[in-house]
Amino acid sequence: MERELAVVGGGGGFIGGFLARNLLEQGYRVRSVDIKPLDEWYQVHPDAENLSLDLKSLDNCRRAYEGADRIYQLAADMGGMGFIENNKCLCMLSVLTTTHSLMVAQEIGVKRFFYSSSACVYNADKQKSEDVVPLKEADAYPAMPEDGYGWEKLFTERMCRHFREDFNVPARMARFHNVYGPHGTYDGGREKAPAAICRKVIQAKLSGNHEIEIWGDGKQTRSFMYIDDCIKGVNMITDSDDVLDAINLGSDELTTINGLVDIVEDIAGIKLERKYKLDAPKGVNGRNSDNTRIQAELGWAPSIRLRDGMERTYAWIYDQITSGVPSPA
Ligand code: NAD
Repeated sequence: MERELAVVGGGGGFIGGFLARNLLEQGYRVRSVDIKPLDEWYQVHPDAENLSLDLKSLDNCRRAYEGADRIYQLAADMGGMGFIENNKCLCMLSVLTTTHSLMVAQEIGVKRFFYSSSACVYNADKQKSEDVVPLKEADAYPAMPEDGYGWEKLFTERMCRHFREDFNVPARMARFHNVYGPHGTYDGGREKAPAAICRKVIQAKLSGNHEIEIWGDGKQTRSFMYIDDCIKGVNMITDSDDVLDAINLGSDELTTINGLVDIVEDIAGIKLERKYKLDAPKGVNGRNSDNTRIQAELGWAPSIRLRDGMERTYAWIYDQITSGVPSPA
């Protein structure tokens, strides 16, 4: 019997690159699709079919998903707070990507459809204090998500739901909370806090200028999920017949940004003078994932502690910087 074809939209990106590798390991035929030219992909798997296409176009979606049994729609124009606070329109245009992906999914009758939503869908009023109450799925409503990026994710989640309810597209949606790990961007404006902090600590260590700039006052609280836990969760959610509505996929190990800097300093064996940039984009004051539903419904829980995941991430970024490889954009 021919193996199923899994298509990863955004396969040239950070999470898509790991997902494509994992699907190959599981025995799927894999097609990865990304708007970036192939030489800018974070990972290129020679055993997959790799296509550079803009999935905002309906025709390109037809080409990308031809013959697909499974669609994993991760493509989005996004980045850390520095990017999403300054590029709201670009973030919202990703609505075309998932809309057209869903339309083609319906046309071809895919067996599974996965969509990567985000914790940025949560109501900002519930994230005003560093002293957080973890966000449970119902906290997305009444809606007041992150401007631009969060509104697009919340709208698209609902569209996935309606394609499922009205047209039987088997859509599953996860709300990712801060995913990190090696093989991602760590410089250039789209990087997120874990990679940015690793880069800054490494640069301070290598240059001898023992200072670090931190965005905000460092007291913001967050949780960070290591990439391996994310991929495991994506598989469980996509394959579930019961988890229909958008579900949290994130770590519930809470830290402050200062705490994250402590961890990276410890890994690097260095202490830095902290300079706080209070007018920099810093996002909400506090956010954590309530994992009650995913634990109860799928038995998923994060398995990699922040310290361990950061050690692997730091080691990869250190190797990249010291070997002179430019950061993936
Ligand atoms: P990423 O930027 O590394 O990957 C996204 C990929 O999508 C990029 O390679 C980009 O080139 C591609 N893309 C953008 N527009 C496209 C288009 N029109 N056609 C084809 N490809 C296009 O980001 P990531 O961290 O791997 O995130 C993957 C998904 O997970 C995204 O949907 C993102 O919103 C979501 N997410 C990520 C995080 C996180 O912490 N990394 C958190 C919440 C949600």
